Amino acid sequence: MSLDDQIKQLSQLILKNKNAIVFTGAGISTESGIPDYRSPGSGAWEKYDSSIVSIPGFLRDPSQYYEYALEMYPIRAGAKPNVAHLFLAKLEKVGLIEGVITQNVDGLHLMAGNTNVHELHGSIRQASCLQCGQIYMMDDIISRVREGENPPICKYFQGEECNGLIKPTAVFFGEGLPTVPWASSVDKSKETSLMIVIGSSLQVSPANSLPDVALNTGSDLAIIDLLDTPFDSRASVKIEDRAVLVCERLGHLLGL
Ligand SMILES: [Zn+2]
Repeated sequence: MSLDDQIKQLSQLILKNKNAIVFTGAGISTESGIPDYRSPGSGAWEKYDSSIVSIPGFLRDPSQYYEYALEMYPIRAGAKPNVAHLFLAKLEKVGLIEGVITQNVDGLHLMAGNTNVHELHGSIRQASCLQCGQIYMMDDIISRVREGENPPICKYFQGEECNGLIKPTAVFFGEGLPTVPWASSVDKSKETSLMIVIGSSLQVSPANSLPDVALNTGSDLAIIDLLDTPFDSRASVKIEDRAVLVCERLGHLLGL
């Protein structure tokens, strides 16, 4: 089947179902310039030990993590949503998709304008106190570190000052997935009649079990990814091309 036909088929599935759940991975953000920080060997890890984004490493020396964050956070936080993120925001606005489940921590779906976003691995744009759970904006935390408060400590006052350690909500190595977005993602995967995977080769467990949940409750599956995935043979349509290109063409077909 030609690329045109595949894109047409996917647009018809979207129009027919009107409640699709979109599941995204790193591939949707590469054209926003987000480096793949999880893979050692990419730039940052020549300078820093990747154990600083593991829970034991962070607890051992949080100030070292924040030194790395001072350098890397402005680059990541400066990334902007691309055509694919903006397309998904329009789809949600016109009622053609139910929401987005993402493995990404870049916060770009929310920035693009999607409101129903389940961030399975947390976000680099938010931090929380490990003691009391108080949520902070990472922009504010980085400013405090830049002014010399390293590591940043929770000032939340509940009878007495908390003084807990503040950590980005982005999931670190050795840490479980946050329970709320995970539970709601499983529910959404059960309810939907169409799951569209974009930019994930579905290798990371347990997030890659969500397409299974959807398929087992009778949902159609569509996949847009450059690589083979373990779910290709069960997908109604598999499009091997760049997320940005496919979303742009889908947008034209759907008049968005
Ligand atoms: Zn606290």
